[in-house]
Amino acid sequence: MSITIKPIPSLTDNYIWLFINTLNSTAVIVDPGTSAGCENFFEQEKIRPVAILATHRHWDHVNGIEQLVKKYDIPVYGPATEFIPCLTTPLTENERIRIPESGLDLQVMDIGGHTAGHIGYLTGNKLFCGDTLFSAGCGRLLGGTAAQLHASLNRISQLPDDTVIYCTHEYTLDNLRFAQAVEPDNQDIQSRIDEVKALRANNLPSLPVTLEMEKRYNPFLRTSKKSVMLAVAKHSGQQIKNSEDCFRYLRMWKDGF
Ligand SMILES: [Zn+2]
Repeated sequence: MSITIKPIPSLTDNYIWLFINTLNSTAVIVDPGTSAGCENFFEQEKIRPVAILATHRHWDHVNGIEQLVKKYDIPVYGPATEFIPCLTTPLTENERIRIPESGLDLQVMDIGGHTAGHIGYLTGNKLFCGDTLFSAGCGRLLGGTAAQLHASLNRISQLPDDTVIYCTHEYTLDNLRFAQAVEPDNQDIQSRIDEVKALRANNLPSLPVTLEMEKRYNPFLRTSKKSVMLAVAKHSGQQIKNSEDCFRYLRMWKDGF
């Protein structure tokens, strides 16, 4: 199988990821918040979409589904516990699915917290994580709890370091500014800022990114580090006893940043 993974920019700062099998020119669409960009690309490149994967219920991830299903008559995979338009295959934790036309094998991960029922899709070393993890940041609590999102990020952290993370928003530079406020002495933050500025100046996405990179500078994956715990304790005025406490007050800090 020969694979290309391509981002289609959508709305202000979303990415719709296309998993393209270049041998038979098929594509699986992840989180289509809009449809026009995908439709144009398929037409230009003579690619046939074969399935849609949804990570969670938010409009900027699902609003293109109805039009794509109407046009291409393709199945929709998504979380069993959330409302996803045109859902044909509801999924739960650890389920394995195969999309025959694209040759894509996926494992479902329950990574709730941003929304309660949010799922991710793992294939080989690639993780489509929706709004759970962003480069240098993480999703806001819009339905799930801090404990849930903290546990989900811990699960992601335990994947191999070479896992490639396909996030769905171009929030990286803003997130890095916050990361730098938390850990001003962390040199990996400045290196990543320089790298992302150069990419964005050329209109290139800052994504995907490896888990190994994220662990160096993403404060939400570093809530057990002393430097982050001390900064969060100082900012919140709270006693930070563990990584989960740290995560909770770090998330609040970022919400008001
Ligand atoms: Zn969302």
